[in-house]
Amino acid sequence: MTGAPARVAVAGALFALVGWFSSPPALALNVALTSSAAPVYVAGRQIHFDRLGSVAGEPVAAVADPGLRDLLDALGAKMTWQPGTRFVAVTRADGKIVTLTVGSYAMTVDGAATELPLAPFYRGADLYVPLRPMVQALGLDARQFRGGYVFVPHILSVSRKIGLARTIVQIDAAVPIAWHAAFNARRRTLTLSFPGFSADASEVPLGKRDAVQAIVRQSGPPGFPTATVAIQLSAGTKFAAHRMGSGVGVDVVLAKNEAALRLKEAASPKPIVAAPANAAARFTSESAPTPSAASPVPTAQPIEVSPAPLLSAPLTPAPLPSAPRSSAIVGPSPQPAKITSVQVNDLSSATRITLTLTGSVSFEWHRLDQPDNRYWIDIHGATLVGPAQNLASKLPFITDMQITQHQVTPEAIVRVAITPSQPIDVQVGPVEGSLDQLGIEIENAPPPSDAPRAGVGSIAIAGTPSPRVSAAATQPDLIAIDPGHGGNDPGAINSGYGLVEKQLTLQLSRAVKARLERLGWRVVMTRDGDNEVGDPSGDDRQELQARCDVANAAGARFFVSIHMNSWVSSALSGTTTYYWRRSDRAFAQAVETATVASGGLANDGVQRDDLYVIKHTNMPAVLVEAAFLSNPHDAKLLEQPSFVAKLADGIAGGITNYSGGPQH
Ligand SMILES: [Zn+2]
Repeated sequence: MTGAPARVAVAGALFALVGWFSSPPALALNVALTSSAAPVYVAGRQIHFDRLGSVAGEPVAAVADPGLRDLLDALGAKMTWQPGTRFVAVTRADGKIVTLTVGSYAMTVDGAATELPLAPFYRGADLYVPLRPMVQALGLDARQFRGGYVFVPHILSVSRKIGLARTIVQIDAAVPIAWHAAFNARRRTLTLSFPGFSADASEVPLGKRDAVQAIVRQSGPPGFPTATVAIQLSAGTKFAAHRMGSGVGVDVVLAKNEAALRLKEAASPKPIVAAPANAAARFTSESAPTPSAASPVPTAQPIEVSPAPLLSAPLTPAPLPSAPRSSAIVGPSPQPAKITSVQVNDLSSATRITLTLTGSVSFEWHRLDQPDNRYWIDIHGATLVGPAQNLASKLPFITDMQITQHQVTPEAIVRVAITPSQPIDVQVGPVEGSLDQLGIEIENAPPPSDAPRAGVGSIAIAGTPSPRVSAAATQPDLIAIDPGHGGNDPGAINSGYGLVEKQLTLQLSRAVKARLERLGWRVVMTRDGDNEVGDPSGDDRQELQARCDVANAAGARFFVSIHMNSWVSSALSGTTTYYWRRSDRAFAQAVETATVASGGLANDGVQRDDLYVIKHTNMPAVLVEAAFLSNPHDAKLLEQPSFVAKLADGIAGGITNYSGGPQH
């Protein structure tokens, strides 16, 4: 972060330009503009432009086009432009400023100029800017894809700072990021994954004292990649992840000593006014990473987890909308979720608090040991319906339990505070089997001595903002195919026939994809290699959610997960199709019927089951168990490519029969 002087210089330039604002557009260049219908995808979501054009093969967009506003909103960026003027400024989410000027081939990022292939120009009252260099300046990778453009946010840098007592790994992007973290205790590897982000592969040596190195990789489909940063810790190293105040970076602090995990508050962050009027003004800090200058929690401790097996507490950070944000950052602020009911249930040796929510929230919890003995959970992006409440627990050592609206601005936070008279163990997370409830379970037992003292998590509720997961309007010609298992999860194995489920599901999925494409569909695969879709060291739920994320983000019209069945007894054979939502039963029946007709295996019928991927996808979804690996008859057939082709014909035909075919 060395941009502050340049930023001030740009601010000066903006003020100087105010005088030009009243003069008429200086240059109406004679540019050959043709209109373009090329699709544009940003972070897996299609953005619709009204006036996308092309000049000598370069895509251009009118700055007043709602599509461009959508694109900037998706990135947390803001544009300043007055119609009739020559000057456009875009403030990135991280505060850097990108400027373009009509008739000029120079574009600046925080004052540093780069050359444009095409100068911005006026056509009538519309100012057109070259789209590709602009989104690249905003920190995205640009790719051409099926006659359209795919823009993917990029992890800009992974750098290190090695201090006396700690090592900090700084991971920066130009757009708000969210991540999943997982710790593999056996391999002492802390892996942060950033779904929807690309990254350049690199290895960052970390000096060995606290950690050996950070390995940066990218996996997954190019239109919706996942960047991962795997940090190999030295023995005895503890870690904490701090979200930066602007939400565009994360600092991972590694230290042997717990106290060193805490980042000091920056002395006194000064706002820098970057541009006049409605452009963003924000807090910035020089070298010292601010532990969210915007952090609303006065007692904030870092989010820290000691390197112990992760129990059930996932380190899933805030979904983007509820990321800590400075009130000074101009941006869309989502409606907070409401907590509509608070229930307390006493179990035999525990008390359970159940909160019902109307939207997605993130939460963080903290535990203070003796003599403080306090525990609190802050639910970010939430408002409490009704007054603060004292909650009663029958656990004799709970002296006080309250739920209050802790803060309203800049971000709504509801706090659940628990005061016990002895150490307690508390689990926080989504309530099993419920889509809109957060559960807090207080157990009559002290936590393990090495248990985490803080953690974070989130609850995403379908239909409420959760940027990368929120689906675009359905793509009426797009099918998501999910080859079951992969990478470190082989699925079922029949070693007698040399059959491995993860290989067969991929083989069959590829065949289904080829047939669907022949029928005029587009296909997005959750994986197209022997890899995990999510973070390789994440748990099963994260892996399955990553598969749902791919389909949801792409806005697929249908989702089909492909598996091979297996049973302890070799007697079972045949094809089964699962559905969960009752509205998907007919879809399952169509796929089952066509697959059995084509493959010729026993018809085991459709079944309703609570399977993760068919429950957490936004579109009609089924899971096909195409054949039984464990059955000699089915296994023998599965060895033959011609049989796999028949199954593929059946599945693709079933989808097409049910849907009536792709719509363009
Ligand atoms: Zn399976």
